[in-house]
Amino acid sequence: MIHAEPFEARLVAARPLSALVRELSFERADGKAFQFEAGQWVNLVLPLPGGEVKRAYSIASAPGGSPRFDLAVTRVEGGAGSEFLHRLEPGAALRAVGPHGLFTRDPADPAPSLFVATGTGVTPLRSMLHASLGAGRAAPHLWILFGARFEEDVIYRDELEALARGSDRIRHEITLSRGGPSWAGRRGYVQAHVPELYRELAAASGDPAPHVYICGLDRMVSTVRELARGELGVPRKHVHVERYD
Ligand SMILES: Cc1cc2nc3c(=O)[nH]c(=O)nc-3n(C[C@H](O)[C@H](O)[C@H](O)COP(=O)(O)OP(=O)(O)OC[C@H]3O[C@@H](n4cnc5c(N)ncnc54)[C@H](O)[C@@H]3O)c2cc1C
Repeated sequence: MIHAEPFEARLVAARPLSALVRELSFERADGKAFQFEAGQWVNLVLPLPGGEVKRAYSIASAPGGSPRFDLAVTRVEGGAGSEFLHRLEPGAALRAVGPHGLFTRDPADPAPSLFVATGTGVTPLRSMLHASLGAGRAAPHLWILFGARFEEDVIYRDELEALARGSDRIRHEITLSRGGPSWAGRRGYVQAHVPELYRELAAASGDPAPHVYICGLDRMVSTVRELARGELGVPRKHVHVERYD
């Protein structure tokens, strides 16, 4: 268990991942390695005009023993914290406290897993995927199901598709709830596709009870969790969730 501690984090780079999502790369100002487990999050202390507020962000990069870590922040309309982070200029420093969280996956875990995410909920799963691929052994079956409204909202798409092309055990599936007429892929909410993908994953991996990792806003997370535990009969300990609201 890694203990959370306060530290100063400096913004060293930022780039848009979509119209609403900005990736922020921070470094510990003291140059120490930022130790965390794939799937964990940090609290950022934001100096807003009305006073300090804390906001939690999942770590999008894999642990690697470096001072650097990436976050991806969705700009919420009227959301003071996320709007502040979308304006933050490289070079700025913030107080951070972390890492926190039990939504983790051991990179050496050989269990097949279905990762279900909407929006920036994909970030801790990206960290887990990179950590597993970097663990120096044959990667287990890791399948991502990403839900978004429109194709342009799908973040880390090129990167995750490249990983999927490089391994027959990695799969990246997208479903769009408002895909345009040219969209030839899956449609609807993630929950519409979870049963089929879960059963396919069980068959492909030869493991009757793959794990399910679910991250995003509460409504989606609760729906998929109930589906997994109920209709799909996934053992309780194999269902892992992280909620953003
Ligand atoms: C453990 C944990 C990890 C989190 N990780 C991330 C992350 O990696 N990226 C991220 O963008 N947010 C993440 N969040 C949410 C984040 O902490 C803030 O709640 C969010 O940035 C909104 O803060 P705000 O001050 O802008 O708006 P507020 O005024 O505080 O919130 C307004 C509303 O925004 C909604 N909201 C919160 N998060 C999101 C979101 N990601 N997408 C759409 N609507 C949202 C909620 O329904 C909330 O009621 C995480 C939250 C938790 C608890």
